[in-house]
Amino acid sequence: MKKCRICGKRAVIYMPHHRLALCREHFVEWFERYTARTIKEFKMFTEDERVLVAVSGGKDSLALWKVLRKLGYRADGLYIHLGIGEYSERSKEKVEKFARELGARLIVKDLSKELDRLPELVKHTSREACSLCGVVKRYNFNKVAKEEGYEVVATGHNLDDEASSLLASVLNWNEKYLGRKYPVLKEEGGFVRKVKPFCKFTEKETALYALLEGIDFIEEECPFAEDATSIFYKQVLNQIEERFPGTKLRFYLEYLRKVYPRFRTDDKAELKSCKVCGEPTAGEVCPVCRLKEKLSAREAL
Ligand code: SF4
Ligand code: ZN
Ligand code: ZN
Repeated sequence: MKKCRICGKRAVIYMPHHRLALCREHFVEWFERYTARTIKEFKMFTEDERVLVAVSGGKDSLALWKVLRKLGYRADGLYIHLGIGEYSERSKEKVEKFARELGARLIVKDLSKELDRLPELVKHTSREACSLCGVVKRYNFNKVAKEEGYEVVATGHNLDDEASSLLASVLNWNEKYLGRKYPVLKEEGGFVRKVKPFCKFTEKETALYALLEGIDFIEEECPFAEDATSIFYKQVLNQIEERFPGTKLRFYLEYLRKVYPRFRTDDKAELKSCKVCGEPTAGEVCPVCRLKEKLSAREAL
């Protein structure tokens, strides 16, 4: 059994990519300090800015909210009720309870009775659930943040999320994506800033933090998660990591250092305002309004 590098007590985790073993207490301390360092490194936000944390009820987003509050940031929560039956209800309850314990403000955006609730979109379009979900969530994060006066939206994406979507993009040589995948996306043309302060933590690390901090998160999977291609890519990366420890973090960090600058484009597609809702979009009508139009046309049939 490895020993904590700081105090010599029994370690609860060994992180080969940092060559670091830590006990319970020092892991929690390290985790919070490392988050603060990542926020500063990528200039994500300052102590004066208001941050809206997109919380799903899962371990990553709740842990992020907690760490940001502990670090003294002005962080509130946003929960989007996607209308995924009992699953959405139960996750909402977890988030509400968590917000009460944290003593922080929580905004709930309820789509459960709306045309663009997720099960409705999945039923009537051919796109994968998670991709539709991403469109709806991004749209609402941005809209609510602006309406409520927040400068930044923070999400709980971890290294496994980032590295697996990067792997998928590399396998498909998706150049557009390779020029956009960065832990901080600056505000521009009607979009607020978006940041991912947990981008360097593995899923194992965020899970351990949530456990040690006693965070009561929703453990059940979203019923649509089974379709997720990203799960497969995560498994593949974990197999590689087992054989060659450190690969996952290196893959991501070296991308940020060497590849992103080459693909990054500064000539932004010209953004317009959606003719229906006024949100920024590259076309005439934004993706969410287009989806809604499609659904209402069906209903009218
Ligand atoms: Fe949305 Fe997919 Fe996550 Fe379910 S698993 S909440 S559909 S992104
Ligand atoms: Zn220790
Ligand atoms: Zn619109």
